Amino acid sequence: MSVERDFSRVGRVVVKVGSSSLIYPTGRPNLAQMENLVRQLADLHNQGRQVLLVTSGAIGVGVHRLGFARRPADLPETQAAAAVGQGMLMHMYEKFFAEYGVTTGQVLLTREDLADRRRFLNARNTMYALMRLGVVPVINENDTVAVEEIKFGDNDNLAALVAGLVDADLMILLSDIAGLYDADPRHYEQACLIDQVTEITPAMEDAAGGAGTGLGTGGMATKLQAARMAMHFGLVTVLARAGEKDVVRRVLAGEKLGTVFWPSGRLENKKRWIAYGSCVSGNIHVDGGAARALLQKGKSLLPSGITRVEGDFEMGNTVCIIGPDGVEIARGIVNYTAAEVDRIKGLQTGEIFRVLGHKDYDEVVHRNNMVLDA
Ligand code: GLU
Repeated sequence: MSVERDFSRVGRVVVKVGSSSLIYPTGRPNLAQMENLVRQLADLHNQGRQVLLVTSGAIGVGVHRLGFARRPADLPETQAAAAVGQGMLMHMYEKFFAEYGVTTGQVLLTREDLADRRRFLNARNTMYALMRLGVVPVINENDTVAVEEIKFGDNDNLAALVAGLVDADLMILLSDIAGLYDADPRHYEQACLIDQVTEITPAMEDAAGGAGTGLGTGGMATKLQAARMAMHFGLVTVLARAGEKDVVRRVLAGEKLGTVFWPSGRLENKKRWIAYGSCVSGNIHVDGGAARALLQKGKSLLPSGITRVEGDFEMGNTVCIIGPDGVEIARGIVNYTAAEVDRIKGLQTGEIFRVLGHKDYDEVVHRNNMVLDA
């Protein structure tokens, strides 16, 4: 049964637009599309909704401006293209938004900014301040400085993290495809558009395949990752075609356009960060009893159920908790260092002080700092 889409009470919306929707095959910016999008976002802003734009296209625009035939294989040249393109992109957004009397602010984020809890909160404060001041944040990854190994790489995941960070109600992912299909529409003519999703199934992931067009880095696979994250956060995602006439306005009006992903839970803000923002520093393996206590009884992780430690983590880092079958069951912030956990594993909490000479916590990972099925 199809649930009616009622977005009349959506107050805060994150809109993400992909490179292929902003750049013509000639390599030059698609000004008509960009202007059209800005007009719709300015209109949402005028309605009193808070709008955040996550935009790709920096590398694509820069590649053309620098005269490269295609995206360079070389990292410094790609970063140079991003530096050139980001300025151009921002110039265009600022100009178009200004025509409708809306002020924009550029926010460039790296994976590291969101992995560090303090910097994550700082980014959130800045975003809130911008919105309070009536500014539309225009967000992209800071491709010029982001190092390859620790990049988001795609703006779909970045958009979902941002939507979680600012506690948005709705995320709209705009690209050159009309929504999620039950098979890859580029290869199967009979592929059907899926109207709504309440659970992302392995079959959907298979149909999503790999990367998309040559310009952007995302494809349907990263869109599904982003939608899954948003579902877990408790916010709605709509996937639709950027070129569809008045797409943003029509999505907000509840029109059946593209694919809607309904929330599956409601993760509180700190747990959003634990599950998707922070970087994992190690693994703690647990026995069957501890796995059941976490999964079925809502308990914290105590030393007694721990069988093995991997990695070199510090207190306060995020670790994965791995069940006896080798599968991750939870993720959380650890109260002891890897060396300490190794020394107290298998012991009763009463023995922690005797072994370590100090005891700040009974729990190795407290329930309040733990997320199941991240
Ligand atoms: N941050 C990249 C850019 O602006 C795009 C990433 C993506 O394609 O998702 O060019």
